Amino acid sequence: LQGQMMDAPLLISSLLRHAEQYHGDTEIVSRTVEGSIHRYGYADAARRARQLANALKRLGVQPGDRVATLAWNGYRHFELYYAVSGIGAVMHTVNPRLFAEQIAWIINDAEDTVLCFDLTFAPLVESIAAKCPSVKHWVALTDRAHMPAQPIPNLIAYEEWIAAETDRYDWPEFDERSACTLCYTSGTTGNPKGVLYSHRSMLLHTFSASLPDVFGASARDCILPVVPMFHVNAWAIPYIAPMVGAKLVFPGPSLDGASLYELFETEGVTFSAGVPTVWQGLLQYLQTHKLRLTTLRKCVIGGSACPPALMQTFERDYGVKIHHAWGMTELSPLGTFNTLKKKHLALSKEEQFAIEVKQGRPPFGVQLKIVDADGRELPRDGKAFGDLLVKGYWVIDRYYRATESPLRDGWFPTGDVGTLDPDGYLQITDRSKDVIKSGGEWISSIDLENVACAHPAVAQAAVIGVRHPKWDERPLLIIVKKPGQEVSREELLALYPGKVAKWWIPDDVVFVSELPMTATGKISKLRLREIFKDHKLP
Ligand code: ADP
Repeated sequence: LQGQMMDAPLLISSLLRHAEQYHGDTEIVSRTVEGSIHRYGYADAARRARQLANALKRLGVQPGDRVATLAWNGYRHFELYYAVSGIGAVMHTVNPRLFAEQIAWIINDAEDTVLCFDLTFAPLVESIAAKCPSVKHWVALTDRAHMPAQPIPNLIAYEEWIAAETDRYDWPEFDERSACTLCYTSGTTGNPKGVLYSHRSMLLHTFSASLPDVFGASARDCILPVVPMFHVNAWAIPYIAPMVGAKLVFPGPSLDGASLYELFETEGVTFSAGVPTVWQGLLQYLQTHKLRLTTLRKCVIGGSACPPALMQTFERDYGVKIHHAWGMTELSPLGTFNTLKKKHLALSKEEQFAIEVKQGRPPFGVQLKIVDADGRELPRDGKAFGDLLVKGYWVIDRYYRATESPLRDGWFPTGDVGTLDPDGYLQITDRSKDVIKSGGEWISSIDLENVACAHPAVAQAAVIGVRHPKWDERPLLIIVKKPGQEVSREELLALYPGKVAKWWIPDDVVFVSELPMTATGKISKLRLREIFKDHKLP
């Protein structure tokens, strides 16, 4: 017996249609590449997205074609998110922080036919254009008056291009399993791999990510995604905000403490999200200038482990609740999110914090398990750690163009190692390639970094394994000090006894002025291992 309810496909276009009808005057504010502030409402964005849909059709973009972007978080990028997926084409957000050769490789692998770029990236586009034969049209996200000087073939001015079109367009209905967006993993080993999301997976992910125990966003929120729209769809914020009718603030290219602080305060941002390094930058700015955050009430930190000291400082000194989250490109990205359960409310602050520093628990729609080297499931006791496997409505089934499935018995192996406790809270020990293997046992680099980050003079800490003749690998602690602050090697090493097993204590400490970053703003352990591969331990 079939149910007798309306049957409509879950499509990305429905989100913007909803926001236009019910939140038409809710603002989308963007800091432009030029630095000025642009503001309009969801109704304006929807109108321009329809003009853009007509413009894309006129260029000959067909359902399934890939349209790429090299762009910051901004309103035109938002319009592309909806117009490209809305007509049934595939929105491919390319990470502009990758090397030019990698970018060209990714564009060729995706066979993008149109590429839209912010002016910042005109020199980059000029350098790769000849190497990207599939791209027939290059679109500068600006008006005619600000076109780049670089000689770029078939160059279109975005504003002129869409202004020529009517805003009448009916978003088509098609199979919800059609592809909507494409993101490449940074591919720290080998070439990047494409993850092709479907309208259905994206809508289900958006519903779940909006729940109160996850992002918990509402029509009373003002959300500023610091996480870029080229880093796993800005963790779904460009979809969540229209779904719930939240005001959106796009920071453009300026992600430094001063620029973010100004936007937080002038726009009344209540909620933000990004990787730990961004919040470390903001924190230093707030501390140096003795500033307060008057509207921000919560932040989602994920992408790499959030040091407990960072969480504590934001909550204690600035009244901002930090929610730790874990995810990956292959998971759209949401895997776990940290919020307490009712039974935890009776616990002491310290006991609550011991739960909150973990990566969180899976929302409805994601299943997790940990297994040993033979694939046997390990107990959910918060102690046993093993390879983390996931399954769910928005988890990858296979990589773009790949012939082989990455799955193991229907589960996706994440490459992360962690523990699960009886309540479902995940704690990531490490990426399997970052775990330090000493004398046949594993040492968690994250645990060692967290201890060092608690020292008031430490701005950033990273721990890597360096080769050791007897133990295979031993931990090396790499420290960036806060400006004008001092801390010695001995002081740092003295933090460890009593907090970690004796044999976990780093063998050495080095001080550096900055740490190498990946294209998604995470500390690059890969690069650190190269730099310190010949480091002589004492
Ligand atoms: P990239 O490596 O390109 O940044 P992803 O954003 O997909 O790609 O990275 C996903 C990985 O980031 C995860 O597999 C995990 O190793 C790490 N990660 C994400 N969130 C956390 C977190 N909260 N704690 C620890 N590691 C995390």
